[in-house]
Amino acid sequence: MKKLIALVTAIVMLLGTCALADTLTMGTNAAFPPYEFYEDETIVGIDAEIAAAICEKLGYDLEILDMNFDGLISAVASGKIDFAMAGMTKTPEREQNVNFTITYAIGVQSIIVPENSPITCLDDLYVEGASYKIGVQQGTTGDIYCSDDFGADAVSQFLTGADAVAALVAGKLDCVVIDNNPAKAFVEANEGLKLLDTDYSEEEYAIAIALENTELLEKINAALEELIEDGTIAEIIAYYIPVEE
Ligand code: GLN
Repeated sequence: MKKLIALVTAIVMLLGTCALADTLTMGTNAAFPPYEFYEDETIVGIDAEIAAAICEKLGYDLEILDMNFDGLISAVASGKIDFAMAGMTKTPEREQNVNFTITYAIGVQSIIVPENSPITCLDDLYVEGASYKIGVQQGTTGDIYCSDDFGADAVSQFLTGADAVAALVAGKLDCVVIDNNPAKAFVEANEGLKLLDTDYSEEEYAIAIALENTELLEKINAALEELIEDGTIAEIIAYYIPVEE
């Protein structure tokens, strides 16, 4: 009998340890610096670090899956991943398929052009008769706005922001429309490009979670609130986006 009790106790303890080490799977598209990018084989960046801080607070291990941005919402909705964090903008359309947490960062759509480009501001893209080739990352807000405003024929979609920028560098595009901080990182990493600041659209970044998983939504929101309040989020953002003097 004693042996049986010891065995049951051991099994219960083992299960307890396993429960503690539960894993949350985050989906992202790791070609979007400074939010997510590869450093050697590891995905790092603002989102990866905030996710790690949330998981640490909640007692989960974190696993990060690199996927196409365009597939993230359906991966969340189908339960393939527990949450998506990818510099993802909260939009009413996406909110029909997933819940979003509170906002943890702000993004603004920006335009990258070659240094000698005739495009000097957003309005230039709207000029009557202009037929610029605009590169975007497929399924992003930049893609949706540009396709709406300039028509599908003017817009070339790429699987990653990095691919769109490579096409711009290769002379295949006139500009790339993408979020401001990745835009800055791409301009710094590639010679001959410059950034046009616009107020095309200011957007709120949040974490996407399955509609039915309200328990995880509440947990992550509580952790995020604490991390915002104690300055951790600001510290992580300041590390990756140093304030310009
Ligand atoms: N913020 C944009 C969006 O949510 C782009 C995000 C991204 O490319 N990772 O659509």
